[in-house]
Amino acid sequence: MNDVRDAIDAETAIHYRTCPLCEATCGLEITMKGGSVARIRGDRDDVFSHGFLCPKGSTLKQLHEDPDRLRAPMIRRGSPDDPESWEAVSWDDAFAEIEQRLLTVMGEHGRDALALYLGNPNVHNLGGALYNRAVLRAAATKNIYSASTVDQMPKHVSSGLLFGSPDAIPVPDLDRTDHLLMLGANPWESNGSLCTAPDFPGRVKAIQERGGKVVVVDPRRTRTAKEADEHLFIRPGTDAFLLCGLLHVLFAEGLVSLGDVIDHVDAAAVDAVRAAVEPFTAAGVAAVTGIDAATIERLARELAVAASAAVYGRIGTHTVAFGTLASWAVDALNLLTGNLDRPGGAMFPLAAHASKPRPPKPGRGFSTGRHTSRVKGYPEVRSELPVATLADEIETVGEGQVRAVITIAGNPVLSTPDSGRLAAALATLDFMVSVDPYLNETTRFAHVILPPPSPLARSHYDVAFTTLSVRNVANWSEPIVDTDQPQEHEILARLALVLGGQGAGADPAIVDELLLHGALERSQKDRNGSARPAAELVALLEATEPTDRLIEALVRCGPYGDGFGENPDGLNFSSLRDNPHGIDLGPLQPRVPEVLRTTSGTIELAPPAIMEDMRRLVRALEELPAETAEHAADGSPDTTMLLVGRRHVRSNNSWMHNVNVLVKGKERCTLQINPADASRLGLDDGGSAKVASSVGSLVAVVEVTSDVMPGVVSLPHGWGHAQPGTRLSIAAEHAGVNTNVLTDGAVLDPLSGNAVLNAIPVTLAPA
Ligand code: SF4
Repeated sequence: MNDVRDAIDAETAIHYRTCPLCEATCGLEITMKGGSVARIRGDRDDVFSHGFLCPKGSTLKQLHEDPDRLRAPMIRRGSPDDPESWEAVSWDDAFAEIEQRLLTVMGEHGRDALALYLGNPNVHNLGGALYNRAVLRAAATKNIYSASTVDQMPKHVSSGLLFGSPDAIPVPDLDRTDHLLMLGANPWESNGSLCTAPDFPGRVKAIQERGGKVVVVDPRRTRTAKEADEHLFIRPGTDAFLLCGLLHVLFAEGLVSLGDVIDHVDAAAVDAVRAAVEPFTAAGVAAVTGIDAATIERLARELAVAASAAVYGRIGTHTVAFGTLASWAVDALNLLTGNLDRPGGAMFPLAAHASKPRPPKPGRGFSTGRHTSRVKGYPEVRSELPVATLADEIETVGEGQVRAVITIAGNPVLSTPDSGRLAAALATLDFMVSVDPYLNETTRFAHVILPPPSPLARSHYDVAFTTLSVRNVANWSEPIVDTDQPQEHEILARLALVLGGQGAGADPAIVDELLLHGALERSQKDRNGSARPAAELVALLEATEPTDRLIEALVRCGPYGDGFGENPDGLNFSSLRDNPHGIDLGPLQPRVPEVLRTTSGTIELAPPAIMEDMRRLVRALEELPAETAEHAADGSPDTTMLLVGRRHVRSNNSWMHNVNVLVKGKERCTLQINPADASRLGLDDGGSAKVASSVGSLVAVVEVTSDVMPGVVSLPHGWGHAQPGTRLSIAAEHAGVNTNVLTDGAVLDPLSGNAVLNAIPVTLAPA
């Protein structure tokens, strides 16, 4: 027997899978020996990433083996500050507790007494991506919140208004463009976002190698900025002004060209944009942004004359007071330079699991505000309310007050504004459930934690990021380790069944079947007389696991699929399984007008909501230069600075800080400040500064660097560990400070409800 076991233990197996940690979706080669991970490196044969990986990718082993990662459900019997309050229980006992306590709250106070928060990791795993909708539907509450409103919601809104679908997001065609203008993006650290491109740095360098130009606009000289052909400092929060200034130059100098989409844009809308950007002269914009007028004019001309060009704005353009306007202006610039929907410009991906292209026709369009938040009246966007108002909804007594919360894979206590207030509010809840592998700064307030298994124990197919990819690819990965924990989809299905009143003991297969039949029925709905019954298609599925069956169904009915036999050369589950390095489906193709879902069937370039909000931008254009001058004119040392965030390649928001190899070494949670400001304010490198905003204060370690522009300070987000009751032993040793105690939950981008996390006025003093 021992000989047999030794032989098995000595067995080495190599597996290939997509890294689920960030949007880049790199292929990994994982060597298993004796049931353990022996090595992780980039998969050189991956059709998309070609062997690239960042320092995080190889740490799936440490994540998998992390002793702090929860393996069993936990019920809290005492204070959230006391780590001894927790008791490991069986899954049945955990769901029985949830059923009893959650349904009591909802029975006494109504369904809106429950709030749900979905964190960012949901879009990185198949269970969350496919099964959260069942939880949301069963909860039937209007109190839905997610990380989208501290991140990319402005892009969804601008895409919804322009193209009729919030998910029709054009991405820069990195591999073919001749000119790339990036604002508020730092892919050398983030690896790209709303633009899936493994080895983003390599793809940017390739633009330069083929004679193209890369320009970065950012208040910090980031690693990306250092590699660019040109870097321009910009006053934080003013990207929308710059973008409108560029549009103004295009119109003023007769450089507007609509390119291939000319037949799908109303000429009156072009005139409306011309009028809307009229006030944004290069000189006026220069005064606000700090970029001189001649440079603004040159940037616009370069975009207009480049053989192909793409403008790409990311988190720094979105998490500001004019986030949706900036996001709209990025696409307007791509369109009005003739670069929308053409190779080398900004293009719409077509994922393998997406709906098949249909003949162009008017759609239902996009709107917001079908309901509003109870306390502050914020409009719903994509069925969500701004997470910045969650504390209001918990604290404010009255009908509809939130008294129970479910968080799924998120850490809003570190990632959302005015987080000290949110933490205090969570502590007052009648009941809270968290689906999460860690006892962290947020889940410590839960009464029950349901931990999903390690990423290595799950199958994977990137549902979210193949729709944002610079090349169309499909890649399915099998689980490579066993687990005795239920899969995340099963946890979510059981939660949905409890919320739907079917009981803690109901069979999760009920949800599996509902989702599968629903997906197949939707796939057949445009086929009129030739629609095939879902049951007939279900019988043809090869995959056995519920999430894999759903993916198989979507891919087979999708644009490259075998149509369940109608297109024998198309993709099916065997093709996914038999191609562990992925399937390359080619470069992006033009998709206008088929991609449009506006009510007019055209690109609605001048949507009324955007045109209305432009008035706010015009007002700020007039007010901001005076405000800036006031600071400069004051004879005494001006202690007011603008705070911005930053990324680091070894971080992933808050949740990779418990991996020792990623956090060891030089302190990363530092307050970066320009030498001139440091000297003026009496701050020393390595010393401490007290940073105060309108809502909170903290003390941070000072890092003096000329990489940050004068008048600006920078702190990374996702830190502030070592809070009582957490179980993150490595993160606690590298606690850092939580920048979101400084951000104000009452200041939002009005069109999207997105929080303002950048350009925060703060005062500084030596601590
Ligand atoms: S870049 Fe992202 S997907 Fe690639 S290895 Fe790093 S964390 Fe994983």
